[in-house]
Amino acid sequence: PAAGNISDEEREELRRHGILLTSLEELYNWGRTNSIWPLQFGLACCAIEMIATATARFDIARFGAEIFRPSPRQADLMIVSGTVTKKMAPQVVRLFNQMPEPKYCIAMGACAISGGPFKQGYNVLKGIDRYIPVDIYIPGCPPRPEALLNGLIQLQEKIKTERLKGPATARHLKPDAPSEYP
Ligand code: SF4
Repeated sequence: PAAGNISDEEREELRRHGILLTSLEELYNWGRTNSIWPLQFGLACCAIEMIATATARFDIARFGAEIFRPSPRQADLMIVSGTVTKKMAPQVVRLFNQMPEPKYCIAMGACAISGGPFKQGYNVLKGIDRYIPVDIYIPGCPPRPEALLNGLIQLQEKIKTERLKGPATARHLKPDAPSEYP
């Protein structure tokens, strides 16, 4: 049978005999799952917890995501960690647009998800998902580093199921600089 038709039990049996079966899709997803490169930027207090996640105590390197890149051209994960003011939102969207596909977004904390404690204010965006497609939401004010790691694991599970073929994965974004804010 084709590799895709083999059951998990059959694979395990083959593995016991030293035979590894995989598909190009699984290989591709395995590579991307374990080498996520987050964009190096933070917006407010949640960013301090994101930075802590990269320290030895929490060790995000265990998940292959320790290479925070200063350029969006080299990153495939945007962690929106903090309050997104309306003045800052166009820049955040522009950075996301500059990241190559396939790319992902984690909304970390109440501010990034909904405006958090500032959502009644006039100057804070009520959720970055109004302009960027968010893959994982991590509630909290702020979420602890363990919560961010849990979100990263959820993202990895999502990447593992992605298909090389099929509908285009390109994200449909609004233009760089939103002129109106809901
Ligand atoms: Fe700060 Fe809380 Fe907003 Fe995070 S969710 S940026 S901790 S106010």
